[in-house]
Amino acid sequence: MDGAMYREILANNLLPSVRALKMGRGWVFQHDNDPKHTARATKEWLRKKHLKVLEWPSQSPDLNPIENLWRELKVRIAQRQPRNLKDLEKSLRNSVTVELPCSAAVIVAEAKQELVEGIPLLCFLFLIPLNFPWSQISVTWLGVVHFLACLSPQLGSVLYHLFMNHEGGEPVYHTLLTLDMCGICMINTLDCIRSLFYMHNELGNIYTHGIPLLCFLFLIPLNFPWSQISVTWLGVVHFLACLSPQLGSVLYHLFMNHEGGEPVYHTLLTLDMCGICMINTLGALPIVYSTLLCYPFTRTVALVVYILLSSYAIYSAITARSSVRRLRSFAWQALFRFSFFLLRWVGVGGGSPTSLQHFLTMDALAVLGGIINIARIPERFRPGLFDYWCNSHQIMHVLVVGSILYLHWGVLDDLLWINSHHCPSD
Ligand SMILES: [Zn+2]
Repeated sequence: MDGAMYREILANNLLPSVRALKMGRGWVFQHDNDPKHTARATKEWLRKKHLKVLEWPSQSPDLNPIENLWRELKVRIAQRQPRNLKDLEKSLRNSVTVELPCSAAVIVAEAKQELVEGIPLLCFLFLIPLNFPWSQISVTWLGVVHFLACLSPQLGSVLYHLFMNHEGGEPVYHTLLTLDMCGICMINTLDCIRSLFYMHNELGNIYTHGIPLLCFLFLIPLNFPWSQISVTWLGVVHFLACLSPQLGSVLYHLFMNHEGGEPVYHTLLTLDMCGICMINTLGALPIVYSTLLCYPFTRTVALVVYILLSSYAIYSAITARSSVRRLRSFAWQALFRFSFFLLRWVGVGGGSPTSLQHFLTMDALAVLGGIINIARIPERFRPGLFDYWCNSHQIMHVLVVGSILYLHWGVLDDLLWINSHHCPSD
């Protein structure tokens, strides 16, 4: 085809099509920068007819949605395997009049998506690396991570929309959907991390557990009198117990608005629950151990029973459908713990004389935190005033940190006591 032929096609078909499609006067003609489209004679012809032509970037025929339609036509004709000219004409007619108008609607809709996502993707791909002030940025990897984050959702989306009608069927479609999701997840995860640095509803919740988490992470191992503790594994277990509820909570509050939706939220809730389960379980092991220090057999049985009981509690807490049921799954654990406090109180059980008071304070603070959280104090009195700071959830977080501190002091006393205590039979 040359320019003259192209102009003839336009002359015979363009305006009749506009009339047939009842497009009125508000339309703009679009073609790409193929030489016969941009030939001086063609330009002149379009100008004389007073046709408005869309400005089109050079060297970018792939942006042209009609190319998708031509491809679709080629695929359909190829499927029919025409053997002679008559066959070809017949399948062409059939494709153009019956099948193509239908797939054209789909392709135009898809093409719009591709353009919407595809053009920014190309811009980001070239403009970000070129315009980024690399020389002034000291943490280069953050810049690279940011660049990847900006590309990923658009890349996933473009691939998804471009290939969603691929005839690979279900497996291909599933892969594309996953790719699209991954892109969203990438930018979303970084968005969540960036949310650490500006004001929003969850910020207080993140920091009330995040700062103590960091303190515990570094201060406990540094300040623990490891050399004076004979049962090292109890110290390690205790350290993990102190970290776990805050780690679960920080992850939960940091990523709870992640657009991964229901499955992500559910996983986070489970993580948060696991943190609480861990401190309930691991945190109590040193208490059980030191209470029954002088009864090795009973001690081992009690530790095993407590771990089994806790496993069941963790299972029911994670699968619980309501918060009341979730609380109830911890009731047996609490009861078991209290029976040990009772043993100590009547003087049968071992343990440092100072630690029982610490443990009781620990549980009192935890219960108080739970009550404040459920009762929604103080925001129930002045709704809206405590959205950012000092709401019940944050007060609960602070009380939980206090509770962990008392656990730590109690266990520390007990571990040192184990070292200095001599059982009667020794
Ligand atoms: Zn929380």
